[in-house]
Amino acid sequence: MSTALDTAFFAAWIEEIARVVAAEKEWLTGLDAAIGDADHGANLDRGFTAVAGALAAKGPDTPGSLLMLVGNTLIRKVGGASGPLYGTAFREAGRTLGDTPEVSLAQLHTALEAGLAGVRKLGAAAEGDKTMVDALAPAVRALEQAVRDGRDPAEAIGAASEAARTGAEATIPMQARKGRASYLGPRSVGHEDPGAASTALVVSALHTVATSW
Ligand code: ADP
Ligand code: MG
Repeated sequence: MSTALDTAFFAAWIEEIARVVAAEKEWLTGLDAAIGDADHGANLDRGFTAVAGALAAKGPDTPGSLLMLVGNTLIRKVGGASGPLYGTAFREAGRTLGDTPEVSLAQLHTALEAGLAGVRKLGAAAEGDKTMVDALAPAVRALEQAVRDGRDPAEAIGAASEAARTGAEATIPMQARKGRASYLGPRSVGHEDPGAASTALVVSALHTVATSW
């Protein structure tokens, strides 16, 4: 693959997220039915459908402005906890990129780390609280390690994607300490967190696009 992570690359990522979220909507909603209110798949599908419309209408010309538009649209269109959290993640990632036309792997890591910091600041969840942070934090760490090891983008993003999936699975035995699932107390144990599951899909979509770029 070429290493130019340009605006078209990020647009392709968002399109792939929209496709995967639509395909996995029932699965995500089923996870949320177990420990929440059965709307996570619908929430994200509504959000990314709106995002696709906004991108088509505006056609942002830098990766940073594209991700900021994604974030702002998610915040506006998605109710529930996940809209503002995902929205903040994309917006902070975009803001960190500034107006650079092409993003290096190291810059991608910095952007995702800023997204994670935004989620942590807004939601106050730490790793182990059974939230999207349990998938996103290990993904960001894996990407950081891969950058340090000098791996190519597809490989590095593949490592991040694997770490996110492993992180999502690791939420199964956890007891939720944040969000709606925390109301269940010990009954939240034994189920994968829906937000961690969708975060793994989002990072996996990035890998899908990176392997064919
Ligand atoms: P709601 O819980 O309002 O119905 P969603 O169902 O769309 O919203 O999203 C639920 C997901 O949001 C959870 O599975 C969890 O991953 C994430 N979440 C909830 N609260 C927090 C928080 N404080 N910090 C990080 N993530 C959170
Ligand atoms: Mg819900």
